[in-house]
Amino acid sequence: MSIKVTLTEKEILETPNDMMLGELTRNKYWQARRDHEGPQYDDEHFGIIIGEDGLVKSIVRPYRCSICGGDTSEVEYDYLVGYDHLGCVLKQEDENLNTLDKCVLCGKETAYLRSTHVDMRIGYVEGSGQLCMDCYNK
Ligand SMILES: [Zn+2]
Ligand SMILES: [Zn+2]
Repeated sequence: MSIKVTLTEKEILETPNDMMLGELTRNKYWQARRDHEGPQYDDEHFGIIIGEDGLVKSIVRPYRCSICGGDTSEVEYDYLVGYDHLGCVLKQEDENLNTLDKCVLCGKETAYLRSTHVDMRIGYVEGSGQLCMDCYNK
């Protein structure tokens, strides 16, 4: 990836000092990079630091899997979901699907896995969720 930042003659001549020019350049870089890399920066895993002038100052990239806590800076993008390991995310989804749904009224575990389709269940109330047999029979 190569990002080119264009500074105009006007910007160079009219920016009062090198520090501000540097800042301007950096802003342009992050703006360009955000445009270049697209909507992934809207992902919750990214923090965008926006200055008072409304320009992007920098982007915080945590490079850390939120599930196992491991460093993901060396992991290829294809194997990441945001900054989480793809494997960790899939495993977590699996575990979620394999836990029993809880009764929306009393909180007790029901007989149904989360992965069970609602059409296959008894005691599922549309719009609210699964009831246990005790609550359903009341
Ligand atoms: Zn992980
Ligand atoms: Zn219940």
